[in-house]
Amino acid sequence: MDCPNCGVYNPEDRIVCWRCDQELPKPKESKKKSTDPAQAQRRIWLILIVALVVWILITWILPRLLGGGLLPGS
Ligand SMILES: [Zn+2]
Repeated sequence: MDCPNCGVYNPEDRIVCWRCDQELPKPKESKKKSTDPAQAQRRIWLILIVALVVWILITWILPRLLGGGLLPGS
């Protein structure tokens, strides 16, 4: 970040400016966890939908594709 006092660039981990020894503002900690609740909920829905599609494929479509014509009575 740039020093608020003299404007020189300082690495993010610096506490004081290397040039003017002015205390630098603390870098914004990523207090916000990357897993936003709404985003996590959306991901859960996505997983549920994918699981449902896979379940339908396995239980409904796949037997028809594999066993078509071999079922008794057809
Ligand atoms: Zn400075």
